[in-house]
Amino acid sequence: KILVVGSSNTDMVIKAPELPRPGETVLGGEFFSFAGGKGANQAVAAAKLGGDVIFLAKVGDDELGKNAIQSFQKLGIDTSLIRSAKGLHSGVALILIDGNGENSISVASGANNSFTLADIDSIDEVLGQTEFVLVQLEIPIPMVEYLVEKCSEKGVKVILNPAPAAKLSLSCLAALNIITPNETEAEMLTGVKVSDEKSAEKAAHVLLESGVENVIITLGAKGSFFLNRVEKGLVPAFSVQALDTTAAGDTFNGALAVALAEGQSLKDSILFANRAASISVTRMGAQDSQPFRHEIIL
Ligand code: ADP
Repeated sequence: KILVVGSSNTDMVIKAPELPRPGETVLGGEFFSFAGGKGANQAVAAAKLGGDVIFLAKVGDDELGKNAIQSFQKLGIDTSLIRSAKGLHSGVALILIDGNGENSISVASGANNSFTLADIDSIDEVLGQTEFVLVQLEIPIPMVEYLVEKCSEKGVKVILNPAPAAKLSLSCLAALNIITPNETEAEMLTGVKVSDEKSAEKAAHVLLESGVENVIITLGAKGSFFLNRVEKGLVPAFSVQALDTTAAGDTFNGALAVALAEGQSLKDSILFANRAASISVTRMGAQDSQPFRHEIIL
């Protein structure tokens, strides 16, 4: 099993000719609503690629939360650990996009901020059947650190996608099997400006020295650089016509967990994840753009 722990949001998007200035009302927009949140995006990516996924998330006491749970179930995701937080609303992102694609985003995390130690303890019953835990940083950091500590005690491997960028304790880093920052996140964690293979290697070394077993830095259209004690290398991206890179990283992480849980090598798993992410950038949206297993041709 792959246990994903993280956020679930509903993205409400209005596309209009112009972004409103403070105090201004702009008519003439078009409205779209999408399921989002890094946790949900990664859980859905893994499920669409054939992973056996269980998702621990917090939703609100509202219709958005109920709808989210239903959509996860339709994809075969085990939702038995998802709790609805009394009196709180589900996570919502309000996104305004203008005619040039410029955006303005406001997020109300709602129930995503209500993770408690007891919520994390609820995974005890499934950890015995879990090969990989996949987690991001859109839920409170102390809860992520508690999760990582628990998994390390039980010998369950953790893949941490440190997004959005935030600092993590050394003891947390030292307990990770895999960390998967993008260029910005790698810089935030190491102080090394990352833009190519060489700078990625330098940043990856800093993370390796912190005790992470395997470092994978995603480099957008350049692919992914990986480093551990015995091997390193750049796994180039697939060359595609990119249309919308939303959730490329989420697709990468969900796919990586699926391939690793199947027992594929680190390098083959990165190749699989690059392929899945490369397909997602050729299509609009987050979860809707993510490929199904039969679309992956290596
Ligand atoms: P994030 O979305 O978190 O910023 P990246 O931009 O590094 O992450 O992208 C994650 C992965 O998605 C990359 O390692 C690569 O495999 C794939 N990818 C992203 N952008 C492109 C692109 N333009 N062409 C092909 N693959 C891409």
